[in-house]
Amino acid sequence: MSASRTPCVAGNWKLHHGRAQATQLASALAQAPLAPSVEVVVAPVFTCLSAVNDALAPSHRIGLAAQHVHWEDEGAFTGEVGPAHLVDVGCTHGIVGHSERRQHFGDSDERVAKRVRALLQHHLKVILCVGETQQQRASGSYGDVLRQQIRAALAGCAPSAPNPSILVAYEPIWAIGTGLAATPEDAQEAHAIVRNALADTLGAEQAEISPILYGGSVKPENAQALTAQPDVDGALVGGASLRFESFTDIIAAVALNY
Ligand code: PEP
Repeated sequence: MSASRTPCVAGNWKLHHGRAQATQLASALAQAPLAPSVEVVVAPVFTCLSAVNDALAPSHRIGLAAQHVHWEDEGAFTGEVGPAHLVDVGCTHGIVGHSERRQHFGDSDERVAKRVRALLQHHLKVILCVGETQQQRASGSYGDVLRQQIRAALAGCAPSAPNPSILVAYEPIWAIGTGLAATPEDAQEAHAIVRNALADTLGAEQAEISPILYGGSVKPENAQALTAQPDVDGALVGGASLRFESFTDIIAAVALNY
């Protein structure tokens, strides 16, 4: 929580909600009186991006994220979607480095770095996910893991001036979809590590303005306490973002801190 950062709540719909459900939820969000102090973003599946963009249009303030992006704009890359195509359907953000992509689809640090650069070149905001496994937490190596993920993803994109388009999500893998969120204190400790790594990689000014979201079993009940921590600037929400009530309750809970 800092005056120099805009808090953000982003909903990662993963492989859920077809066009009818996605547009219904997006329309309801677009008409809801969401707290103006919080940036709100939703990330539907690729095939729903265009329809969700239309459904969000009346709100003028809800961002649209892709859950993944290829680094090339065009070419012989069957099955991929590039950053120019995301711009074309109205995206404002892209999520990269999510642990599910790292785990199931072989996303390496090197590939994550290319995706980050591609999004920034197209003036899309990046939500860069980092996080440790249960084993890395238990062994105490999580600080090194987080520093390495930040350095690898961002070292090649040092902006000439602080760039408000760089957001990070700290998502401990053991907390994703498990119902076991990090405690606010553990989240704060990890977020401070991430912010220091940002400062080492991109400079202190960038670290100061980059929102760092917490992700991993965020619910209406824990969102306020987590985001009351000084380095926790919002939430990346999976399961609880799929329903209007729980997602808007999380946004309202986060807004209580701002
Ligand atoms: C996620 O996958 O980004 C996530 C945070 O999921 P959940 O909120 O369901 O733990």
